[in-house]
Amino acid sequence: MDCIFCKIIAGEIPSFKVYEDENVLAFLDITQGTKGHTLIIPKKHIKNVYDLDEETAANLFKVVPKIANALKKSFNPIGINIVNNNDKPLQQVFHYHIHLIPRYENDGMKLSTINNYGKFSNDYFNNLSDLIKKSI
Ligand code: AMP
Ligand code: ZN
Repeated sequence: MDCIFCKIIAGEIPSFKVYEDENVLAFLDITQGTKGHTLIIPKKHIKNVYDLDEETAANLFKVVPKIANALKKSFNPIGINIVNNNDKPLQQVFHYHIHLIPRYENDGMKLSTINNYGKFSNDYFNNLSDLIKKSI
């Protein structure tokens, strides 16, 4: 399969591994958006969150606090963003991965949500939550 992350798992291309178990691998993101930027991936090839089964999700996410705490201890960031891109144009590598991005004062990254507090009615919120609940 022509998947760069499967090749990393198989050891066919190099990576800077920080953690590995039976189901999961964590390694440094090659771009190092900030110091310590790490990716956590399942060893099973799964395209993105829409295809993620519950068992793989559980195995994967239980590693997240472990790595987050290691990054905190190693680099003393002011915080950590946890990001996962799904589908084009956001997603570039189609093997599911979670980004752990330690944040530092003046690191130049803008990763924040827009605050729309107070702009929408209760009806609007009720419609949104009804729609989501019906789709679960
Ligand atoms: P995205 O799919 O948009 O979440 O981005 C994919 C991420 O994978 C980017 O941050 C890349 O820097 C990273 N990446 C791609 N190839 C490698 C590689 N060989 N080793 C480490 N990180 C990689
Ligand atoms: Zn893969």
